[in-house]
Amino acid sequence: MPVRDEAANLAGEITELRHAIHREPEIGLDLPKTQRKVLDALSGLPLEVSPGQTVSSVTAVLRGGRPGPVVLLRGDMDALPVTEETGLPYASAISGAMHACGHDLHTAMLAGAAKLLSARQAELPGTVIFMFQPGEEGYAGARHMINEGVLDAAGERPVAAYALHVSANKQPCGMFSTRPGPMLAAADQITVTVHGRGGHASQPHRAADPIPAACEMVIALQTMVTRKFDVFDPVVITVGSFHAGTTDNVIPDQARFLATARSYSAESRTALADLVPRLIRDIAEAHGLTADAEYAAEYPVTVNDAAEAAFAGQVITEVFGPDRGETAQHPITGAEDFSFVLEEVPGAFVFVGACPPDRDPETAPTNHSAIALFDDSVLADGTALYAELALRRLAQGRLAKG
Ligand SMILES: [Zn+2]
Repeated sequence: MPVRDEAANLAGEITELRHAIHREPEIGLDLPKTQRKVLDALSGLPLEVSPGQTVSSVTAVLRGGRPGPVVLLRGDMDALPVTEETGLPYASAISGAMHACGHDLHTAMLAGAAKLLSARQAELPGTVIFMFQPGEEGYAGARHMINEGVLDAAGERPVAAYALHVSANKQPCGMFSTRPGPMLAAADQITVTVHGRGGHASQPHRAADPIPAACEMVIALQTMVTRKFDVFDPVVITVGSFHAGTTDNVIPDQARFLATARSYSAESRTALADLVPRLIRDIAEAHGLTADAEYAAEYPVTVNDAAEAAFAGQVITEVFGPDRGETAQHPITGAEDFSFVLEEVPGAFVFVGACPPDRDPETAPTNHSAIALFDDSVLADGTALYAELALRRLAQGRLAKG
């Protein structure tokens, strides 16, 4: 029976697991209930299962009956600090936590793929690592798992790694999309403190006012983006937090602001880390002030390997037909910690539209919204894609022929 039909037969089970995870969302790196559900779903399968040591991850290794390379499949498991307002029958039972990015679907689909591939263990030409990851939403859970050895879990490095991500809007339901090269942005954080000297607001010349200098920095950062970076390798800097002072007639000692910096190439990211602190410090100096500027590297650019992205596109066409796949025109401005895996192993990150068919993908609430909906109808095909990517990639051997 084709993998896709087998996945369709498993749809009830996968949907049930998804709903159970959705009802009890957990945030961050410690997801004991979600981990338990995954371990239960995998129990009885011919897998080498290792729960994480410092985080509640699950790594499962399936060794096929025939020799071949290693392929890694990743699904993230964590929720967001959002109070769900969907009114779904299986809505979150926990106030302040919601699977608003659809990671519950990824977990359930990956568990389904583990079951499908386990049934084909004897004929499998190689090994599959299933990476069930906590803490994607800002906790760098993938990096924790890499530090704990997920990439070496099979005894040799994977030749390819794939991840799926559902989208509540933009793409029609069931439409897969990927692209070669940058798929998601790098996201870094800039923290600035401008040190002045407080005083009476009526006598600024007897103080050292940090506020005008800090305002100048905010504007100068925008100018820097347009003057120092290639317009075809875009950079976004947004100051999302700015705080100084207490009242109108007091000059404060300090001004502080926080900004996010998004970029799509290692070159731009390196340049940002160098130019931003320099610009901040030099503006402070020009005003006789000092400033601390910290550029904290968070998630790298998620870069799809060209051959692996082409291969994934080809698998989508062969398994689901040409109208179910598209090449994404642009990368997404969001960020992903699968980027840490793709820094080590060539692979592809694939989006799948999960907007309910009765909503318009153009206007539907986005991922991370309290009313975001992800349609169960994508679960079977998502599961099938995970399994087919592994099966077909293992069959190709060590080099991708996408
Ligand atoms: Zn997500």
